[in-house]
Amino acid sequence: MNTGTEPVTLTRKGDTSTMEKLHNYINGKLVAPQSGKYFDNYQPATGKVYSLIPDSGAADVQLAVDAANAAFPAWANTPAEKRAKIIMRIAALIERDLERLAKAESKDNGKPVELARRVDIPRAVSNFEFFATAVMHYASESHAMEDSAINYTLRQPIGVVGCISPWNLPLYLFTWKIAPALAAGNCVVAKPSEVTPMTAFLLSELCIEAGLPAGVLNIVHGTGPGAGQAIVEHPEIKAISFTGGTKTGAGIARTAAPMFKKLSLELGGKNPNIIFADCDFDQALKITMQSSFANQGQICLCGSRIFVERPIYEKFRDAFVAKTKELKPGNPGDEKTRLGAVVSQSHMEKILSYIDLAQQEGGKILAGGKRVMLDGEFSEGWYIEPTIIEGLAFDCRTNQEEIFGPVVSIMPFDTEEEALNMANSTSYGLAAIVWTQHLTRAHRVASKLQSGIVWINCWLLRDLRTPFGGVKQSGVGREGGFNALNFFTEAKNVCIKL
Ligand code: NAD
Repeated sequence: MNTGTEPVTLTRKGDTSTMEKLHNYINGKLVAPQSGKYFDNYQPATGKVYSLIPDSGAADVQLAVDAANAAFPAWANTPAEKRAKIIMRIAALIERDLERLAKAESKDNGKPVELARRVDIPRAVSNFEFFATAVMHYASESHAMEDSAINYTLRQPIGVVGCISPWNLPLYLFTWKIAPALAAGNCVVAKPSEVTPMTAFLLSELCIEAGLPAGVLNIVHGTGPGAGQAIVEHPEIKAISFTGGTKTGAGIARTAAPMFKKLSLELGGKNPNIIFADCDFDQALKITMQSSFANQGQICLCGSRIFVERPIYEKFRDAFVAKTKELKPGNPGDEKTRLGAVVSQSHMEKILSYIDLAQQEGGKILAGGKRVMLDGEFSEGWYIEPTIIEGLAFDCRTNQEEIFGPVVSIMPFDTEEEALNMANSTSYGLAAIVWTQHLTRAHRVASKLQSGIVWINCWLLRDLRTPFGGVKQSGVGREGGFNALNFFTEAKNVCIKL
C-alpha cells in the first residue's frame, strides 16, 4: 500500500531535514496536491516543524467533488446494513491502531498522550460504531389522515457534503462529522484543521485498508482560506458541517446561505461553571480542575468563568489555587504529563495577551500567568502555566471573549439570580456547569441558563444520543444521535390518497 510518506529533503535556515509529507485522500488514493506545494506542520512540544501538509485548493476540491459525485449513486443505494459493516471495519482498525494514533495525536496537537489514549482515539472509535449502528435503527415517520390519505417521510441522503473541523480534538471531531454523513449514505469532502492534520491523514490509510469504496470519503488538506473556502463555495457540495471559531462560522454562513446550503455550525464558547455553597465540595473541586485545564483548556466545553457562592468562595478559591499550582506543564509524550503544550505559537501569544489584558482590566493572578520554558529539546515548545484570575468584573473583555487556553477567572456571587445574570451575560451559549445538591434549584437553574448543554454535578459526561450544540453565537443546529442523521438527510413527505 502506498503510505504517502516518502521522505523529502527540505532546506530550512541552513538545516537539511528529512520530513514526512502528508497526502490528500481522493478517489480512494493518497495523492499529492495539484499545486505540488506543501506547508509546515509543527510539533507544539518542541516548537519545531516535523512534517509537511499539502497546500490544497480549488483544483483538489474539484477532484474530490468529482470522485464523490461518481461514488454517490452506488453508496446511497448500498443497504444501510452493508454501509454499517464497512464503517464498523474502520472503527475496528482505529481501535487496532489506538496506540499509534494516540501518539500521533499527542505529537501533532501537544495534548498529553494519556489524554489522547483515554479520550480522543477511543471517541473516534465510538463515533464510527455509534453511527454505523444508529443508521440501522433510523426510522421515519408516517402520518395517517383518517381514511383520506396516508403520509410517509423518506429520509434520503443529500449527496456530496462538506465536513470541516478544528484542531483541539482533531480525530475526535473530524470523525464526529464524517461518521453520520457516511452512515446516512452521503459522500464526503472533508478538511481537518491544518494545525493538526496528522490523524486525519492516518485515517485515510485506514479507510483504504477497510475497503471503503473509492470516492465515498475524500480528505483534502490545506488552509481555511484555501481548501476550506473552496469546499464552502463549491456549488455541488450541498451541506456544510463546520466546527470551529465563531468568526469563521459567520464567514462560512455568509458564503453558504445565499447558495441555500444546509448548515450546521458548532462554534465558540465562554462557558460558566456555577458552584453553589451546598455542592459536594470535593467533587466540585476535582472536576473543576478538569473542566478548567483539560487539554490545556482547549475544549469548547471547558468552564472558563467560575462563579462561586460567597459562603464557600474563599475556601474553594484557596483549594483550587493550591491544586492548580501543583499542575505543571510537561512533555506531552511523557506518560505522567497531565498538562501539555498549547497548539501553536500564535495561539500561545493570543492566550498570553489575554492574561495581560486581564491585568489591565484589574485582575489579580492567583496562579500561573506565564509561559513555561522546559529543558532540552522542549525548550522552544509552547507551554503556559495553568492560570487563575480573580477580581475581574463579569462584563469585562477577559470575561466575555473566548480565550481557549488554560486560563480561568473566578468570581463570588450572592444570589441565584446574580449568578444566572453573570452566566448569561456573554454572546455565547454552548455549555454550562452547575454544582449544587439542591434538587429543585438544579432544575430551575438549568432551565434558565442560555446554553445548549447543561451539566449538573459533572462535566463532559457524554451520551452520543443527546443533542449537542449551542445557542446564541455558539452555533446553529444540533449534532448527536438522530439529529446528525436528520442533518445529513433530506426529509421528503409522500402523501398517498386512499
Ligand atoms: P477555526 O475557525 O480557525 O478553524 C476551524 C476549521 O475551519 C479549520 O479546519 C480551518 O482550516 C477552517 N477554516 C478557516 N477559515 C475557513 C474558511 N474561510 N472557509 C472554510 N473553512 C475555514 O477554529 P480553530 O481555531 O481550529 O478551533 C478553535 C475554535 O473551535 C474555538 O472557537 C472553539 O470554541 C471552537 N470549537 C467549537 C466546538 C463546538 O462543538 N462548538 C468544538 C471544538 C472547537
